[in-house]
Amino acid sequence: MSLLVNELGAITGVKAKTASEAMDLKAGAVILATGGFEGNQEMMVKYVGPDITYGTIITGCPTNTGDGHVMAREVGAQLVNLNVCHIRTTDKFWGIGLARHLPHIYPMGILVNLDCNRFVDEGIADSDTIANAIVFQPGHTAALIFDEKARLSYPKEYESYPRGRDVIKVAQTLQELAEKLGLSPGHLNCLSMNSTLRSTKGKP
Ligand SMILES: Cc1cc2nc3c(=O)[nH]c(=O)nc-3n(C[C@H](O)[C@H](O)[C@H](O)COP(=O)(O)OP(=O)(O)OC[C@H]3O[C@@H](n4cnc5c(N)ncnc54)[C@H](O)[C@@H]3O)c2cc1C
Repeated sequence: MSLLVNELGAITGVKAKTASEAMDLKAGAVILATGGFEGNQEMMVKYVGPDITYGTIITGCPTNTGDGHVMAREVGAQLVNLNVCHIRTTDKFWGIGLARHLPHIYPMGILVNLDCNRFVDEGIADSDTIANAIVFQPGHTAALIFDEKARLSYPKEYESYPRGRDVIKVAQTLQELAEKLGLSPGHLNCLSMNSTLRSTKGKP
């Protein structure tokens, strides 16, 4: 597919094709409604980079291959903001993640990567910011750690998490928690668990 352009550079229609024929569809205006380019790995790598391309599970439409962007670019359109994309945290069992399941609890905890380092201000970051930060961590992975005070603040939210799939690990000590998460107990021990000192302005 491509856009038809007259000698003045104005769009006059679309050159389209079906399985059996090609045709020129003339039109006074053309609206490109071909979605994003999440189904085009080459464009993903080029515009949003390898971390997001290979470190996330693409949940968008696989048939969104950026055809509209390509057609527009071919006739001189300026493409902007292609490096911005909407991603969110997922857990490996349920696929929805903390932002949807624990919208009030997650700003009360801390997020650590596999090296036990914090990497985002959990109290003010929204879920998109957190997801974008996680994808740049080792293994594209992080653990949300929260305490009993956070759990008791939103018990229904906590209980509704699909823990039957072993997503949430409960431990009495940081040492025990580190072992359950496969993290270094020594490093995890250095972390402050005082979540009450932080703001809880995070939005799901
Ligand atoms: C997992 C997920 C959850 C979301 N949740 C929400 C939400 O809760 N609220 C919200 O507001 N938004 C949400 N969104 C965003 C929302 O779905 C999109 O913003 C919206 O669908 C974009 O609409 P669109 O018409 O531009 O593109 P799309 O809905 O992506 O439609 C584009 C269509 O064009 C077709 N197409 C592409 N190339 C060609 C071609 N060459 N020829 C013919 N057809 C072609 C594609 O097959 C597709 O059907 C979510 C998106 C995802 C991925």
